[in-house]
Amino acid sequence: MVSLNVEKGVSLKPFVTLRAGGSAQELIRGNTHESLSEALNYSLRTGLKITVLGCGSNVLPADQGVPGLVVLNRTKSIDLDADGNVIVDSGCPIQDLFLRTAQAGFDGLQFAVGIPGTVGGALASNAGAYRKCISDYLVKTEVATRDGVEWVEPSWLKLRYRDSLLRHPEKPDCIVTRIELHLPHGDRKRIFDEAREYQRQRIGKQPPSASAGSFFKNVNDSALAQSLHRLPEALKKAGVVPAGYLLEDAGLRGYRHNGAMFSKRHGNFILNVGGATATDIRHLANQAKEKVYDRFGVMLEEEVLYIGDWPKGSS
Ligand SMILES: Cc1cc2nc3c(=O)[nH]c(=O)nc-3n(C[C@H](O)[C@H](O)[C@H](O)COP(=O)(O)OP(=O)(O)OC[C@H]3O[C@@H](n4cnc5c(N)ncnc54)[C@H](O)[C@@H]3O)c2cc1C
Repeated sequence: MVSLNVEKGVSLKPFVTLRAGGSAQELIRGNTHESLSEALNYSLRTGLKITVLGCGSNVLPADQGVPGLVVLNRTKSIDLDADGNVIVDSGCPIQDLFLRTAQAGFDGLQFAVGIPGTVGGALASNAGAYRKCISDYLVKTEVATRDGVEWVEPSWLKLRYRDSLLRHPEKPDCIVTRIELHLPHGDRKRIFDEAREYQRQRIGKQPPSASAGSFFKNVNDSALAQSLHRLPEALKKAGVVPAGYLLEDAGLRGYRHNGAMFSKRHGNFILNVGGATATDIRHLANQAKEKVYDRFGVMLEEEVLYIGDWPKGSS
């Protein structure tokens, strides 16, 4: 049995990349995959709702706080064999996993360079970039639920574009504890060249201020894509409209509400440029949704997850 240290009323600001929001009612730091399942058992025993945080790079906690138990996932072990089979703790930063696997000559995770999240958080949102995503390499997932700890098939997670069961309110009480991936062999020089190129592109596009990356999901809508004259042909063909395109066209570049501001460099990044509350950030996001809806008839969907006790009428 692992002993758990429960902290009360801990501010979540330092643990989320948007640097905004209130406190966790209770907080446990999990350093081993066994401690994560113990934390789940504690939440089930005490009736506290559980929220898992990896690097907090895809969430916005309410200023009113997050009731129940927040588990900060600080697990990090990686077990890689000679055939490219990896069992990795869900709290391992995905960039650390990229480095470890690439150095051993395994291909695939270059897309993750510049994604500041854990493997568990990446799985929850099926994180990806440059036409690759984590589910491309997923074999099995170890989850702790009220029925115990078990390995489940990818279908259990209902993975889709930037989405999975883990993001939905109807999800079971659970924590992803470990993940098994399989990566093919690849040429080490090409892998690192690709990673460097992706990093270069990100440095050019991504603003350095506090953000949660792209705030909204891209839109799959062929008719809309065809109607946008400035959209590159490849995107028209794929029927994909980047949310940043719609936001910029609706005049939101540099648009600001208190300390929350749309980046001038990347149309889909909301930045905390100083002292923004979570309410400021969500207010700005709501204004943007309205403006895009008025101009294009499309309701953008957040990629960032609102967690905790948001007052009624926030959405
Ligand atoms: C500068 C920047 C660039 C980014 N670029 C990209 C990009 O190119 N592509 C992309 O897809 N994303 C990108 N993101 C968004 C984000 O980094 C990813 O979604 C990342 O994978 C989230 O991981 P996390 O550990 O921070 O998750 P968190 O934000 O901590 O959590 C996200 C969700 O996952 C759940 N969760 C986390 N861990 C677990 C677990 N172990 N078990 C169950 N549920 C869990 C949480 O409860 C929450 O609902 C970017 C963000 C930033 C700030």
